[in-house]
Amino acid sequence: MNLDSLGRSLHDLRISVTDRCNFRCVYCMPKEVFGKDFQFLPPRSLLSFEETTRLAKICISLGVEKLRITGGEPLVRREIEKLIAMLAPLDGLKDLTLTTNGALLGRKAQALKDAGLRRITVSLDSIDDQTFRAMNDVDFPVSQVLEGIEAARAVGLSPIKVNMVVKRGLNEQSIVDMARRFLGSGMILRFIEYMDVGATNGWRLDDVVPAREIVSVIDRELPLEPLEPNYRGEVASRYRYRDGDGEIGVISSVTQPFCASCTRMRLSSEGKLYTCLFATAGHDVRALLRGGSSDEEIASFLVDIWTRRADRYSELRTAATVSLPKVEMSHIGG
Ligand code: SF4
Repeated sequence: MNLDSLGRSLHDLRISVTDRCNFRCVYCMPKEVFGKDFQFLPPRSLLSFEETTRLAKICISLGVEKLRITGGEPLVRREIEKLIAMLAPLDGLKDLTLTTNGALLGRKAQALKDAGLRRITVSLDSIDDQTFRAMNDVDFPVSQVLEGIEAARAVGLSPIKVNMVVKRGLNEQSIVDMARRFLGSGMILRFIEYMDVGATNGWRLDDVVPAREIVSVIDRELPLEPLEPNYRGEVASRYRYRDGDGEIGVISSVTQPFCASCTRMRLSSEGKLYTCLFATAGHDVRALLRGGSSDEEIASFLVDIWTRRADRYSELRTAATVSLPKVEMSHIGG
């Protein structure tokens, strides 16, 4: 097993298939930056599905067991189900999932399921239509995302996780409403602390609603008790409702960092590998994929990257690090 310099194994590969999105969420792709003149990656620079699958196969041979498809918004990449169909049968793959904003899920759910997707995560930052439209900043109705979630359930994608990023002054008033909406649904609602990802969302610590506060706000209305993690390196801290009607998760990168058990690597859509969500630079593997390198050569390149890895940004976050030119989350996925 390949361990990095802090003794962490490589377990998860997050694959961004596009840097484009049909939303402009204020904490990820602020419209002022990602406007109509923004230069997105040209299609020819993106890894093909064949290249992505080849790299995923090599990563699985090095210990990766879980693949997560991300973006930008992965469902805007044409025929994304073809990639799912190529990845799903890979030997050694234990888990294949995808994170979407749900806008196109109603149309795509059946094709994703038929292609071999097992489960799905949908980002939904409020159940209140006005708040949701303000956060996605493209005036997209919450009803259509809820229809997409129902479509995912109807085709049998399971479990369904729903991710809510909580930003003070924007949607903290939606926390309990969201909890009530998914109570007893069998879906797992996860609350994510607002993070200083990238360099464009104007992050301030004051806008972070700490995980402890999120849990206590819910606990006052819907009593909770902590649960053990499903596995080492699981991102969310788990809680179940005392009345047994389901569970929630809290992802606390800012106030309770979990770098010590971080087993994730990220691949951008143009073929760069990032060893941390808050990295400032990536490692180009596309040149090897297109330059005639063998699988063995690419594997040793990956091993070299991973074994030298020492990232623990969230543990080291300071006012100075916040303004580093970090890669945008829309470029490498969450
Ligand atoms: S900050 Fe980087 S090292 Fe820490 S948990 Fe996140 S991705 Fe992993």
